[in-house]
Amino acid sequence: MEKKDILIIHGTDYKNMTIRILKRAGLAELIGDRNKRIGLKPNLVVARDPSEGATTHAEILEGVVAYLQECGFNNLTIMEGSWVGDNTRDAFRAAGYERISRQYGVPFKDMQADTWKSCDAAGMDIRICDTAAQMDFMINLPVLKGHCQTLITCALKNNKGLIPNAEKRRFHTLGLHRPIAHLNTVVRNDFILVDNICGDLDFEEGGNPVVMNRILAFRDPVLCDAFVCESMGHKPEEVDYIMLAQQLGVGSADTAKAHMVYLNEDLSAKKKPPMTGRVKKLASYTDSQDACSACFGSLIYALDRLQERGELKKGLPPVAIGQGFRGKTGDIGVGHCTACFSKSLEGCPPKAADMVEFLEKEWVCKHM
Ligand code: SF4
Repeated sequence: MEKKDILIIHGTDYKNMTIRILKRAGLAELIGDRNKRIGLKPNLVVARDPSEGATTHAEILEGVVAYLQECGFNNLTIMEGSWVGDNTRDAFRAAGYERISRQYGVPFKDMQADTWKSCDAAGMDIRICDTAAQMDFMINLPVLKGHCQTLITCALKNNKGLIPNAEKRRFHTLGLHRPIAHLNTVVRNDFILVDNICGDLDFEEGGNPVVMNRILAFRDPVLCDAFVCESMGHKPEEVDYIMLAQQLGVGSADTAKAHMVYLNEDLSAKKKPPMTGRVKKLASYTDSQDACSACFGSLIYALDRLQERGELKKGLPPVAIGQGFRGKTGDIGVGHCTACFSKSLEGCPPKAADMVEFLEKEWVCKHM
């Protein structure tokens, strides 16, 4: 797998999807020496079940551990520090990680209780937990989700779990963006496996999951977060820490140069995803017939962007989406399945960022 590659797999058998995507990425070859110390960094920001959209699914962690052990890597450590105010051990339990740790014999290190050292992160002093600093290879396992202060959170911000609590508080007083970018010049980002199963609409603590049933793999954390922006209807330039990380040489935010690798098709079209109140409200602007999860989730994120701009109002005709519209005509739709509609956005699935632009021009403006 190259730095510019983005691997995507769809489905609901998360453990086996994980193993498949890691095989395709050639992770074992990327790591090399079987004796390397490998850190696994999930997102356990709060003590909540992953189905609520905040934390990394246990099946993904289990898939990574099973794959690595099968390949002969046995020096593994799971590490995380929840946000200030939550206990990491409780979050570890709530996410269902205890069984995995026990069954596979992989130790867990709580970064809230770890020792730390200060280091020079491209001109900024940052305290890093010792366990994280000692690793030879880091596998970042973030959740794709919204964030009330930074718009999105994924690979770059997930590394905030590798600093002590006092440093987390300092990051907040510094406005998050600059310290997050600098942090990523010193912590390792060797491989990133993104939980895009049901990340939250706009809060890092979950509560409004948007079901997309995807797992994504990257080698570049900046490319990862730029892609996540577009998947949620934002532009990477809107998120300061992404652009700053690029300037500091952490990676590239140029998604136009990315090489997309789809491992399978999204076969979820017949199943309606579960929806909480806010997601249901956004879905009321759609007419969905057999829509794939990733396509429908992208539309929900796009509608949320329009909602933020005050552009959603009663009287708008529903936006058609889904395989049930193939070959049919209508007013407005998104995705290749609605290609015969008067107005249709091409893509299978289209990006949420493109949906926002299209719907603003062809839907909101036409019904003002
Ligand atoms: S456009 Fe593609 S992704 Fe969207 S519903 Fe149709 S087949 Fe699924």
